[in-house]
Amino acid sequence: MASASKSGVSTIGVDLGGSHVTAILADEDGTTSHRSSYDITDLSFGAVVKLMSSAIHDVSAKAASVSAVGIGSPGNIDLRNGMVRYSPNFHWVNVPLGDELRSVFDMPIFIGNDARCATLGEHTYGSGRGVKNFVLLTLGTGVGGGIVAEGTLLLGNSAAAGEFGHHQIRATDGFICGCGKIGCFEAHASGTGLLRHALACAPSFPRSTLLGDKPYEVGSKTIRKAAEAGDSHALAAWTRFIDDLALGLANIIAFMNPDVIALGGGVSSAGDFMLNAVRPKVDELTTMAPKGAAKIVIASLGNDAGAIGAAVMARRGGMATSLP
Ligand SMILES: [Zn+2]
Repeated sequence: MASASKSGVSTIGVDLGGSHVTAILADEDGTTSHRSSYDITDLSFGAVVKLMSSAIHDVSAKAASVSAVGIGSPGNIDLRNGMVRYSPNFHWVNVPLGDELRSVFDMPIFIGNDARCATLGEHTYGSGRGVKNFVLLTLGTGVGGGIVAEGTLLLGNSAAAGEFGHHQIRATDGFICGCGKIGCFEAHASGTGLLRHALACAPSFPRSTLLGDKPYEVGSKTIRKAAEAGDSHALAAWTRFIDDLALGLANIIAFMNPDVIALGGGVSSAGDFMLNAVRPKVDELTTMAPKGAAKIVIASLGNDAGAIGAAVMARRGGMATSLP
């Protein structure tokens, strides 16, 4: 990408992931430059705030002028003050992320959910550009999402709209989700969901070496690559994963009737291997809208979607202009 102009006013977007924090500098036209990234080794609130502050300092030092900072954080966020109400990844409950950063930086700070930020990024500069009804699904360790309805990012009454990961697709016999429910979409159609499928069907493949000596540490990419290479155990897991992904996608189509659903997150690196498998199954399960009318594509901003979207949020003065 081109460098952000030294003379223009930039915003900073920060993506808080489970294992790292990344800050980028972004121009008004979405071009980015100057990034700073730190690995998170201590999940405590104070330690993470310190890393975020360092990353923001690093990139702001490179800019002529910074007007605001946007932070995409996992969890449910109170958009009025930037408090993280609940973030299972960090085991945070009601932590004042916005206030802490405001005490360090003398500029507007806006906090939003990371997947909603990624949706904003993809809709403004990526796979959802110009799309009126758009859904982003991030398939990573978990499943996040966001909805653009009639051109507007949908927030809901407590900024939780788009939590597709926790709609139940197999409520009676599914995997147990990190949220405590049974059969959530996230437990079945995330990277860890693919591993769960591989573990669940392992007894049918007693000679399989797919999961090796440390089965709980096998990455989703390893299983997907083995499926692409024709490994029967991996293919069985992959087929169940695709079935469950299709089920959730068809539900989203029934609820939202979007023009485009973009698949992001680490698992989306499967590209056409995933799209070609899932599209016909979604069509089979789509009954009340024209089959194929919702285009299913791979998101285009990659790992930067969350940080770019956070910078967009900062530029527009928050995720919403009118809040309850
Ligand atoms: Zn859940």
